[in-house]
Amino acid sequence: MAHASGGKARRRIPIVPEPGPEQQVRLYAATRKIYPRTIAGYFNNWRWAMVWATQLFFYGMPWLEWGGRQALLFDLASRRFYILGLVLYPQDLIYLSGLLVVSALSLFLFTAVAGRLWCGYACPQTVYSEIFLWVERHVEGERSARIRLDGGALSLEKLVKKWFKHIVWLAMALWTGFTFVGYFTPIRELALAFLQTRMGGWEIFWVLFYGLATYGNAGFMREQVCKYMCPYARFQGAMFDRDTLIVSYDPARGEPRGPLDKGRPAALARARGDCIDCSLCVQVCPTGIDIRKGQQYECIGCGLCVDACNQVMDKVARPRGLIRYSTENGLAQGWDRARMLRRVLRPRVLVYGVVLLALGLGLAASLVVRMPLKVDVVRDRAALARIVAGGRLENVYRLQLMNATEKEQVLRVQAHGLAGLLVAADEPYAVGPAEARWVAVRLQLPAEQAPPGSHPVYFDVGNADGSLHVSEKSIFLVPR
Ligand code: SF4
Ligand code: SF4
Repeated sequence: MAHASGGKARRRIPIVPEPGPEQQVRLYAATRKIYPRTIAGYFNNWRWAMVWATQLFFYGMPWLEWGGRQALLFDLASRRFYILGLVLYPQDLIYLSGLLVVSALSLFLFTAVAGRLWCGYACPQTVYSEIFLWVERHVEGERSARIRLDGGALSLEKLVKKWFKHIVWLAMALWTGFTFVGYFTPIRELALAFLQTRMGGWEIFWVLFYGLATYGNAGFMREQVCKYMCPYARFQGAMFDRDTLIVSYDPARGEPRGPLDKGRPAALARARGDCIDCSLCVQVCPTGIDIRKGQQYECIGCGLCVDACNQVMDKVARPRGLIRYSTENGLAQGWDRARMLRRVLRPRVLVYGVVLLALGLGLAASLVVRMPLKVDVVRDRAALARIVAGGRLENVYRLQLMNATEKEQVLRVQAHGLAGLLVAADEPYAVGPAEARWVAVRLQLPAEQAPPGSHPVYFDVGNADGSLHVSEKSIFLVPR
């Protein structure tokens, strides 16, 4: 504490008041649990169709076989990716990068055309939240029953329901983790190892990690992941424009809103908008927002509020579409659907579309003409240039021959680049289907044939019928 002393004037220390609650910046916003209500309808059917399609693919694909091996396997241990008939080596990373670029561009294109289609229908977070919610509904009941159960005192019924729900969730989550690992380790071997309780430590870790992440994200965090963790929710606004189709409430038609009152005189009823303020659109929303407040970044574009409001409009004998897929321009100008759809082919969409088409075609063409043989050349550092019998100069190399076909290949190695260069012990090498094999190759050159220094040479590797052929560059060292 500061004190004034002697004859000096006492100095006042300003007292800064504590900030009030409204002045404090909170880094964590407490959230209320959302209890989405079930709704049937066109968009809900699409959502479930996508749940089935994505999950049949995800859980089923690792069990499918192709030519005696797993059809889709990213075998990290042997550094090989199997995609149906394709065998990709780390040297083929360019194709996977191309696939990622095509996927990102597709996302841009779909977002520019129709907003967050990915989020609402195909994102794993949405899909697993929907599946976990389905379990919750079947165990604990519909929205009101779940609210009652959570708000009620602890009882045997509550305990049994909660335990049962979590056991089902955990079983599904662990099966999801197991399937995920099955994309990186042959799933049949993994299942056998599990049954014989001899699964590896890393495999157990990843099954638990991915399984518990699914359990936490789909069971507890749900819309919080979309709101606070997903970066796409934040930057997708940059891909929208006034002609992007988004789920919108039509305020010109809905306002002024008010409850339905059948006894109201016709003149007064006409003065009201079509929204009867039933809040069904809010109750069905998986992110708990009110679309009538306008476009919000929390909206994942699932269309469930459209289904809900259409049901309400049917009941009150008003036209459907008070909440609908529309565009900002469409709503502001009162355009009909045909006029809005005509604006789909605008410059931004055309640019995305053309670039996507060019990249997709380029990727497909490069895969078709891709040579299913890879060769890596490594100079043997232990054996530098040496003189061998006959006074020839010899350099030793290690070649990795990678067969990316489904058949065994018998390969021969030749070399060119220097006059008189030859491969000592020119022998064929058998490489099994989708296998890689290291071989030692010795190149010999007559002495005095080349001046001292390093000279470029080329290894030509191919099969007998010439369908496989690769040329790889290296250097031949001539010592002083
Ligand atoms: S469901 Fe339709 S009528 Fe009901 S509150 Fe929402 S917008 Fe209004
Ligand atoms: S506002 Fe409608 S479209 Fe958006 S997330 Fe909620 S229910 Fe889905």
